[in-house]
Amino acid sequence: MRQLTFIGPGKLEWWDVPAPQIRAGTDAIVRPIAVARCDLDYAMVTGAAPLPGPFAFGHECAGEIVEVGDAVTNVKPGDKVVVPFQISCGACDHCLRGWTNACLSVTRGAVYGMKPICGEEFGGALSEFIHVPFADHMLVPLPDGVSPQVLAGGSDNIADAWRTVAPYMEQYPNASVLVLGSGRGIGLYAVQVALARGAARVLYAEIGSGSEAMRMAKEMGAEVQHVPVPKDVKSLGSFNITVDSSGDVEGLNLAIRSTGVCGTCTSNSVYFDNAVPFPMMRMYTKGISFHTSRVHARAVLPDVIHDVACGHFHPEQVTTLEASFSDAAEVMDDPGPKVVFTNDWV
Ligand SMILES: [Zn+2]
Ligand SMILES: [Zn+2]
Repeated sequence: MRQLTFIGPGKLEWWDVPAPQIRAGTDAIVRPIAVARCDLDYAMVTGAAPLPGPFAFGHECAGEIVEVGDAVTNVKPGDKVVVPFQISCGACDHCLRGWTNACLSVTRGAVYGMKPICGEEFGGALSEFIHVPFADHMLVPLPDGVSPQVLAGGSDNIADAWRTVAPYMEQYPNASVLVLGSGRGIGLYAVQVALARGAARVLYAEIGSGSEAMRMAKEMGAEVQHVPVPKDVKSLGSFNITVDSSGDVEGLNLAIRSTGVCGTCTSNSVYFDNAVPFPMMRMYTKGISFHTSRVHARAVLPDVIHDVACGHFHPEQVTTLEASFSDAAEVMDDPGPKVVFTNDWV
């Protein structure tokens, strides 16, 4: 089968590889219908995230089940499903606590499309088929009337943005929300979730000169602000909920400086450095809660899908380029916030 393979920055190749097979009764084989470009995919392709190839590429996907093992009972061939990018069993102690990014039944960090993160190749979403273990737990049905293109990113980035805002909204009536974005999709999803959940004020800020995402955030109804030199800015105000999706240490620090008394700051940026400077004294005196981790994609996915299905949350408005699988290698470095690929082989 065809598999998009990451060789190195700027270099993706289509390889012909064996199609995955059912290996256990709990497995399924899924044909990806829509695949979204994760913000980290963009960073890998442009060289900003140093992961060594070769490996199967793409990890945000919704598709159709084509085959299931004989122990699978919750889903069946023909069902349309979202495939979480992290692999989890649903039955171990961690999964039962909702820590599905740290399943004890699989290799630590097991993910599609990013072999160097876990050291094991699980396949990539930009392929004709992908192998899904623990299918009864892993595969989350798409609701009626919601297309795979809308929720392909629910595998990862949409869920990752949702968890930075939605779980804290009830804690802060008339919440004020600050999102520090990077010009990619994830910050825009966070803006959408905040607006959909009734935030009284949403500010989207970007470091540097700003981008297409800034214009889009404004159109969605957020206030927007460029921050050319974040270290010169004392704060952007005092917000109940702050989100650092900037991917910039200065952005992280500005998000914390802009978090109000007893506020909550979540960073879903990936910092490849353990020595990131951190304003501990400010956090202590203001009582700021800080969260960082990989998202528990499978655990939050049903709530994310619920918000989309009831029409409160429109992730498709973040998509700036729709392309086909056949074009994926050529347009993966498109500078827009979010690219979604549709399978043009079926
Ligand atoms: Zn990702
Ligand atoms: Zn598990």
